[in-house]
Amino acid sequence: MVARSQADCQAAPWKRELAGAITRPEELLDLLDLDPELLSAAHAAAVTFRLLVPRGYAALMTRGDPQDPLLRQVLPLGDELQDPPGFSTDPVGDHAALRTPGLLQKYQGRALLLVSGACAMHCRYCFRRHFPFGELSLGAHHVAEAITRLGRDSSINEVILSGGDPLMLDDHALADLVARLEEISHLRRLRLHTRIPIILPSRATDRLCRTLRESRLRPVLVVHTNHARELGAETRTALEWLRLTGAVLLNQSVLLRGVNDDAQRLAELSEALFECDVLPYYLHLLDKVSGAAHFDVDEATAARLLDRLRRLLPGYLVPRLVREVAGEPYKTPVDATNP
Ligand SMILES: *Cc1c(COP(=O)(O)O)cnc(C)c1O
Ligand code: SF4
Repeated sequence: MVARSQADCQAAPWKRELAGAITRPEELLDLLDLDPELLSAAHAAAVTFRLLVPRGYAALMTRGDPQDPLLRQVLPLGDELQDPPGFSTDPVGDHAALRTPGLLQKYQGRALLLVSGACAMHCRYCFRRHFPFGELSLGAHHVAEAITRLGRDSSINEVILSGGDPLMLDDHALADLVARLEEISHLRRLRLHTRIPIILPSRATDRLCRTLRESRLRPVLVVHTNHARELGAETRTALEWLRLTGAVLLNQSVLLRGVNDDAQRLAELSEALFECDVLPYYLHLLDKVSGAAHFDVDEATAARLLDRLRRLLPGYLVPRLVREVAGEPYKTPVDATNP
């Protein structure tokens, strides 16, 4: 096993990049010429959810700007230690929606499989920042249990691989999982919810593309981009390869104060995504997770923003503004007609 994982490591640049990602706040601040005064708060906030950012993503940040919209998504801040009322550790009711370990079903026809507890970056606003990934991501017997469950329920035609990030699985494990899902005859679509093509584009390997291209299941990739500057040259190339597999590419964003809460910025994001053959899908209101209150944009402000965005873009480039309400049968649209 050890020999094999070393060989894997040599063969896969993305694993080396991941192993070399920035985890120390002092290194990130130093790299960006930022005030070391930010350090003690960063250390304090990193205790509950540690800093993790791939170097390629950090390279897209502007040096000397503590308000950089990419930096704000990853730098632990003292603000995270405040705990205003209304913010909790399980804001979207995931625990209640668990069918078997690692298998969530909230909506008709679609089931979501948490295949990896890990991510290639730690986004400070993440609604799963308190989720016990270690317990809930899949061990081999849990995969078997989840697949049996999916096989028995013919109302499910789409399986969504999520996490964490499903592309933290290596190519072999993913190909293996896809092959087992393909055997379930009522499944038609394979969806991946992943931020990795955006933040670690070297993960778009030939083998991954082949798995998607050759699958009986129609692949849908929902990537996660919040700002146009996240679409660097390498990410654009990775998205092109993924697109060439025949996968439908969609994007979801989270509306984040100080990152993208501006109609012009959101319009630039939609335009940039379209250049990469990715259509905007959802713009999520922040899930009210403890530690992320400083990113929150209230519903009325969000609705006004969407109204401005609609004036700037063709309808197909306007994402659906939604919030997730525990127990509801779909992601709840936030109305912009009477903001
Ligand atoms: C968001 C989500 C989905 C997908 O919803 P769509 O509206 O189809 O994108 C499916 N299952 C769960 C548990 C979800 O949270
Ligand atoms: S990549 Fe997604 S799941 Fe992972 S930390 Fe970021 S928002 Fe959370």
